[in-house]
Amino acid sequence: MSVKDNLNKILKNLPNDVQLVAVSKTKPNSDIIEAYNAGQRVFGENKALELARKHDELPKDIIWHMIGHLQTNKVKYISSFVSLIHGVDSLKLLKVINKEAIKHNRSIDFLFEIHIANEETKFGLNYDGLSQILNSSEFKELKNVNLRGLMGMASYTDNKDIILNEFKQLSKYFHSIKNSKLFAFNNFNVLSMGMSGDYKLAIEAGSTMVRIGSSIFGAR
Ligand SMILES: *Cc1c(COP(=O)(O)O)cnc(C)c1O
Repeated sequence: MSVKDNLNKILKNLPNDVQLVAVSKTKPNSDIIEAYNAGQRVFGENKALELARKHDELPKDIIWHMIGHLQTNKVKYISSFVSLIHGVDSLKLLKVINKEAIKHNRSIDFLFEIHIANEETKFGLNYDGLSQILNSSEFKELKNVNLRGLMGMASYTDNKDIILNEFKQLSKYFHSIKNSKLFAFNNFNVLSMGMSGDYKLAIEAGSTMVRIGSSIFGAR
């Protein structure tokens, strides 16, 4: 199957209100162009330098998302153009993003990454950590970053109940913030969860944005 066929197969499975981020990390520009020619415009990368290079080389109407863990010293490579940063998991990183956004006279959309898996290795805040940040005055002072929602990755397991439960918990938390009168965030409407192996479960739990790589571009 071609990239185009894979893409169309995925799109057929997505409800209209779920956005697809085509995860092109490690893949050559030619693969991205194939998806682009099939109509895909939103692409995700997990390394800042690779993202910056592809942004330079590829059509300018591509909407680039940074989906991976972002180091503070790498923010500068993507801050002029990135559309959404998925993996923000500290106030320290957010301050750097805000500073870079000011330099470029723009506002940068981002998601807080929540650690929902039971593995130690994955990045992300826990629910308490997030609420501490949301309630801090330091956070409220950052005017050039715009919180659009939450992102999470489920445990790497075949057990669908575990995965579904983790997604449901994140979804519940997302809605509690969205509906809270304490926070009046503009456009807090993105729940980024679901990858090639688990996106159907993520959608069942209320995902609004799935990040799919290998099912479109093949194994890495
Ligand atoms: C690589 C990656 C994906 C896509 O994974 P696939 O299993 O290839 O669909 C999604 N999210 C993040 C954060 C990733 O790093």
